[in-house]
Formats: sequence, C-alpha cells, structure tokens
Amino acid sequence: MASISKSKPARRQCNASLPAPGAGSSRIPNFFRMSVTERIDALHSRGYLSSEDVSMLNGAGPTLRLPIADKMIENVLGVFGLPLGVALNFMVNGRDYVVPLVVEEASIVAGLSGVGRITRLSGGFSAHATESILIGQVQATGITNSARAKSALLDRREDLLALANSLHPNMVERGGGARDVEVHVHAGPTGEPMVVLHLLVDTQEAMGANLVNSMCEGIAPLVESITGGEVLLRILSNLTDRSLATATVRIPHQNLAGKGYSGEQVRDRIVQASDLAQVDPYRATTHNKGIMNGVDALALATGNDWRAIEAAAHAYAARDGRYRALSNWTRNADGDLVGKIEMPMKVGTVGGAVKNNPAARISNRLLGSPTAADLAGLIAAVGLAQNLAALRALATYGIQQGHMTLHARSVATSAGVQDAQFEAVVERLIESGEIKEWKAKEIERDLSRTISMPERADCSSACGKVILLGEHAVVYGKPAIGLPVPLSVEASVRKGGDRVRVLVSQWGLDRQVDPAATDGFDGAVNAMLESVDLRGVGMTLEVNPHIPRSMGLGGSAALAVAVARDLSREFGLGLDDEAVNGLAFEWEKMSHGTPSGIDNTISVVGKPIVFENDGKAVFRELYLPEPLPLVLGFTSRAGLTARAVAQVRAAWKANPAHVEALFDQIAQLTRSGVKAVEAARFDELGRHMNLCHGYLNALGVSTPDLEQLIQIARDNGAVGAKLTGSGGGGSVVALCPGTQDRVAAAMENAGYQSLNLHRTPNRSE
Ligand code: NDP
Repeated sequence: MASISKSKPARRQCNASLPAPGAGSSRIPNFFRMSVTERIDALHSRGYLSSEDVSMLNGAGPTLRLPIADKMIENVLGVFGLPLGVALNFMVNGRDYVVPLVVEEASIVAGLSGVGRITRLSGGFSAHATESILIGQVQATGITNSARAKSALLDRREDLLALANSLHPNMVERGGGARDVEVHVHAGPTGEPMVVLHLLVDTQEAMGANLVNSMCEGIAPLVESITGGEVLLRILSNLTDRSLATATVRIPHQNLAGKGYSGEQVRDRIVQASDLAQVDPYRATTHNKGIMNGVDALALATGNDWRAIEAAAHAYAARDGRYRALSNWTRNADGDLVGKIEMPMKVGTVGGAVKNNPAARISNRLLGSPTAADLAGLIAAVGLAQNLAALRALATYGIQQGHMTLHARSVATSAGVQDAQFEAVVERLIESGEIKEWKAKEIERDLSRTISMPERADCSSACGKVILLGEHAVVYGKPAIGLPVPLSVEASVRKGGDRVRVLVSQWGLDRQVDPAATDGFDGAVNAMLESVDLRGVGMTLEVNPHIPRSMGLGGSAALAVAVARDLSREFGLGLDDEAVNGLAFEWEKMSHGTPSGIDNTISVVGKPIVFENDGKAVFRELYLPEPLPLVLGFTSRAGLTARAVAQVRAAWKANPAHVEALFDQIAQLTRSGVKAVEAARFDELGRHMNLCHGYLNALGVSTPDLEQLIQIARDNGAVGAKLTGSGGGGSVVALCPGTQDRVAAAMENAGYQSLNLHRTPNRSE
C-alpha cells in the first residue's frame, strides 16, 4: 500500500478545560439501576439536560419525528431506532463529561463508564485536536507535461485561493476558508500523468464536505485554464489527516488490579496485546474495531458522519504502507500504563445532521455544547477508553465472562421476566449459578410478591396500582383485586421557611399552599399536617411523580403515601404503615369524595391484594404463582375519579336495584377471579376481565377510546381486557400470556401509549 505523506499540522486550542455551565459530576452512583425516567431526571438535576431535552426524551416515540426524517433522505418509510445511552465518569482535560452513545451492541456503554471510573482517579484523559483542515481534490486529466502544470498551479496559488474564498465569504469572515494549495502528480495505469490539486480549507465548526465540494467545483474552470487539461473529479478527500485528534491517558498500575490479577499483571498483558496490534494487521483490525465501537457511537449520537470517520481512520492506520493499530499502550518509568491514540477526526458541531436531528442536539447539549475541536478530542479519548475496556478484558478474564451477564439477560427475557424485576432477576440468576428459565421464573415469583420502591435517605416513595377486577363495586363494599405497579411517586420534605411550599418540577409547579384551604390539593395537605400537629410549620414538599396523571394508576394515593412517609422521616414522627395508610385515606377522601381505600392500601403495602371495605377496610395478600402478563394502554384523556364515582353514585341512586345487581355480578367475578389468579388460570381470568368490562360499560364509565384500546388488545391476543380504575378516560389493562409485545406494539401503532412489562432481548458482541 502506498504511504501517505503529511506535514505536521498546527495544534488547535481546545476549550475543554472549561466546565459545562452548571453541570455536576459525571459520577452518578447506581445510575444503571435507575429507570429511564429517573436517569433523565438525574441528568436534569445535575444540569446536563435542559427542561426541553427532558420533555423531548420523555415524549412518546422517537425523538426524530417522521416529517423531519422525510426531509433528510429520499423515499422515507419510517424512522429506524437505536438505543441512545450515556457513559458516565468521563473526564477529559479536567472536565467532566456524560458521554452520549448511540449503539446497538451491549457492553460498550458499560465498558466506557468502567474505564471512565478508573481513569478519573489519575486525572482522566488529555486530548487535543489540530487545526480543522479539510482537503478538497480537483483532478486534472489530459495533461502531457505534468511538471509544467504543477508549477503553473502553484504559481497561481493566490488566484485559486481568492476564487475559492469568494465562493464562501461567510467562512472567511469566521476566520476560516481556503488556506493553501498543494499539487500531487500520479501515474495512471498506462503511465499517463494525473495531476491532482489539493485545496486545503479551514472549515471551522463544520465537517465541511459540502462547502469544500462547492469550492472544488467553483475553482475547476480556473484549474482547467491554468493546466490546459480537463477537470474530472472535484470532491473532498475523506483522508482527513490535516484534522488529527490525539488523546493520552496514564493509569497507575494499582488502579488496574482486579478479578484475581495484580495491577502489574494487567498492565503488562495490555502492553503485550497492544504490541501485537502494531505488527499484525489481523489483530490491528480487531483492535481498531474496538476503538471504533466508541468513536462511531459518539459520532452518531452527535449527528456526525461516522462513515467518513471510519474511512479516514482505516486509511490513516495504513499510512506507512502497513495496517497498524491507531492506539498504543506502553509502560512508563514509574510503572504506570500509558495509552495514546492519534487519528483523523473531522467532525462538526454545525451542518449535516447536527441541526436536523433533535437527538443530536440533545447529545451536543449533554456534552456542554462543545466546539468542534473539543468534540474531536473527546471522541479520540472515547476511542482510547473503549480500546482499554476491551484490552483489559481480553488480556485477563476474556470477554466471555461479560457474556455470562448477557446470557442471563437473554434467559430472563425468554422467561418473560417483567421490566420491574428484570435487573434484580438477572443479578440473582448470576449469583445462583443456575442460568435457566425455570430459575428466572422462580426468582421473579419471589420478587413479585412485593414491590418495594427504592428508598433514599432524603426522600420517600410509594408505588401506584392497577385494579384487575372490582372497581366501582368496591366503593359499595364489594371485593376488588389490586396489584402494585412499578411506577412510583417520590416525595421529599424539607423543614424551613414560614409557609408550605410545593414543588413539582416535572409539571413546572412551584407555589405556596393556601393555609386557609379546606378542599382540593391544598386542603388535603392542610388536613394531613393538622393530623400530625404540623399545621403552621414552614416546609417545602418536593414531589417527583413517575405515575402518569389521571390514568387510574393510583397516582394521587401514592402521592399521599409518599408525603406522609416523608413527613414522618423529616420530622421524626415515627408513623407506621397503618398510620400512613390512615392519613393517605383521609387525603384520598378530600380528593375523590368517597374512595374505597384500595389505592392507598396497595400503595402502602406494595403487594397484590384482595380488598374489601364494608364499613371497615380489610385486605389480604394475594399469592401469584406466576407473574401476570399484563399490558396497560393509555388513552390521552384524563379519567377523573371523583367525577366517575359521582356519576355511578347518581345512577345507583336513580336505579338502585339494577345497579346493585351489576355490583353483585362484578363481586362474583372478582371472587372467582381471585381463584383464577391463585391458580394462574389465565384464560379463565381473562374471561372474567372481559365480562367485568361489560358491566363497567353498563355503568356508563367506558369511552370510545377505552373501547378501541380493549378491542386492539383482544384482536392481538389478549385473553382479557378491561378498563381499569375509574374510567371516563384513563387506561385499560390487558392480560396477554405470550402476546405482550404484540399487544403493546399494536396499541402504540394506533397512537396510544402502552406500558409493556415485557423486555426485548439484549444481544452480545
Ligand atoms: P453543511 O453544508 O450542512 O453545513 C456547513 C455550513 O454551516 C457551512 O458551510 C456554513 O455555511 C454554516 N456554518 C454556520 N456556522 C458555522 C461555523 N461556526 N463554522 C463553520 N460553518 C458554519 O455541512 P458540511 O459542509 O459540514 O458537510 C457535512 C455533511 O456533508 C455531512 O452530513 C456529510 O454526511 C455530508 N457529506 C459527506 C461527504 C463525504 O464525507 N465524502 C460527501 C458529501 C456530503 P455558511 O458559511 O453559508 O453560513
């Protein structure tokens, strides 16, 4: 392979030592255990994401909408999804980064976060980029005297640059534009000379392909008149060796120790592995693929042309005629492991897909809106880090051990483990050493008996609920089956101030409670404070609701329970579950008029229950031999419990005999449903749900949206589907053994949101 000559370009100043305004540390413990919403919140609260980013990420469907996609390329049919994740702990030039990565391959994000954690102990990565020059090529053919053509072109350097710059005056104004020309002469296959003019353009913040192409086309007539030849190609070169990025890292060997290997052993094995990649193209190719795992994922996330980066990287790796590793690992005099990478990195922070794709804009903001130079350096550092993650595993325990986790994830997926318990089941499967479907089911059964919400020292949480059978009738003393859902409300109470302030940042709510209010939300807060002798005490109630509002999922009761728990925590009230339940029930009465108490009870207990309140609330835990394969579907209309309950009460008063007969029917179905649940007889349970929905419809609390969702669920394999909660909007619950994915997808395709507790498979490398 021909060697590539290059003059050493000037070093570009990176601004990467400046911290992102307001951004906190990129070290966020237990981030991987959080739900997607919690992760978004964690990054928002640390200043990495704006409120606009949060609403875009929390919105239904892909961040890239079809109408925008349709303008990006031709013949669009849809939007193809890939996961957008973030690697944490990253430090480059003394600055913390949360690194967005778009990639389908498992272990890349975790690998980078792990390396970020080790490397930040010794100051993280140093990175810099050279000036941002893109080369444009103009090929002149039909030339007999190439030496004369070459010197004529070089003589007219100023004219060529002036013409190129006149085509892009804005770029010159920005301090960029065409800087120089070079001329190369090659021999064609039959010996005829080929003269190629290189136009060297400083493209500033843009990758520059389009602008360089247009400059090349613009100067082509002048090149023809100077050389007397005919211009053929006029296009940039993707061998962007005048835009190099370099990253280095130093890791004391002690920080590499682990999994039975000393730090020295790990260091020496990494160096040996790296040495092989310097001399063996077969190994170098795989070594470089590992680097590109990180490079491409970040390039894609930031809207950059990863194909261009790939092409440049591999050509550069072969620049001296032999394909070699782009990075190198050595041991320094202090015994530290030192890594270095140098590679072409022509990226932009404007132009291309950067502007069009909202997800790319979010990624760039996550990175603190870097300059193109910062971004180039960061991408090189991410490539080097990804390389280290792979080498460390390969040089020690091998990459298959990581695959144990992937295997456990895939077994848990096949066993139909629900999202809420997925991570816990995987962890316990690995611990058990029995990575089998039956074991996954057994572990899930154990776990699913209790939904315990994550407790933090500075806040309290409570789960939502879904009613399987018996709503409305339960208000009239009949039984109902309720299940906890893995969605929570978190409340954090802080003493201080002279009023009661309520903060719900997701809803943009920040206001003071009216101390005189006796109804509504303020009235409920006042009554609860009165009951625990805190009326008149200044405090802030900060609420983080993760339960969709007015969807029949018990958001209001969970809020009351979380607030009561956190009042107890902050003021040392020592409230037990029964006391919390009592307070939450009073709150519910103020919100819903005549609630049965099932919502607050499930929220406190966090377990499936059979509940009855015929003057006195009683409940018993319900045993689920198998997790219920449920899918929830949400209408876009709020189901207002107070209104629906009042509507049923009016119907009951107007026609007690008929309405009570309906309640009796619902009660019978519920009692029989309890037995079906306890024996995992899903077909029978489904039939009961369908019948129960019929009665609820007869009570007048269904809507066309609810009916449509139920029909979609049944058409796609649900054995039972019904509205859940108060109705009048809100949501449906569908029992879908083996068809959860299909039902959820069909709901989404019809424009509704769904909550599918089934997971899609993860794949390994
Ligand atoms: P664009 O043409 O989309 O955008 C660059 C333009 O942004 C500049 O020309 C400039 O226009 C404007 N701009 C605004 N602010 C700045 C700034 N601070 N610094 C620099 N420019 C600024 O993109 P590129 O020219 O960068 O081309 C990249 C795209 O080209 C990618 O999508 C790539 O996929 C594609 N492409 C790649 C090819 C390849 O790699 N072989 C070939 C062809 C296309 P103005 O001066 O008018 O304001």
